[in-house]
Amino acid sequence: MADHDPNCIFCKIISGQIPSRKVHEDDDLYAFHDINPWAPVHFLIVPKRHIASMAHITPADESVMGRIMTLAPRLALEQGCNPYPHGGFRIVCNTGAEGGQEVHHLHVHVMGGPRPWARG
Ligand code: 5GP
Ligand code: ZN
Repeated sequence: MADHDPNCIFCKIISGQIPSRKVHEDDDLYAFHDINPWAPVHFLIVPKRHIASMAHITPADESVMGRIMTLAPRLALEQGCNPYPHGGFRIVCNTGAEGGQEVHHLHVHVMGGPRPWARG
């Protein structure tokens, strides 16, 4: 699989072709605020390498997936989620049409902040 898909909106966000509000960037990962937030805090963490969905990951992706899940709680607090247990956050990874996936570049939603939320 190519590292980047020239037709992928999130590949364009990672490369800066499409602007985004950056939350975090390192060699492997990019995180940015969702354009249509469900909650007071709502950002996406994506691998920089184009992986279409969770249905496409292989054992070679263990490290990057572990890094996403390890980064999420730290960024959630930095972005204004309240601490566990009264606060917390929701991690969602929609996969495929029936899983509600609209953008086919693997992304993890991190949502949180005081209720009520716009959705969810
Ligand atoms: P999915 O339904 O694929 O899990 O979620 C895709 C998410 O990407 C949606 O929550 C949507 O608001 C967000 N999104 C789609 N296009 C853009 C964009 O151009 N910029 C940003 N920041 N978010 C986007
Ligand atoms: Zn992509």
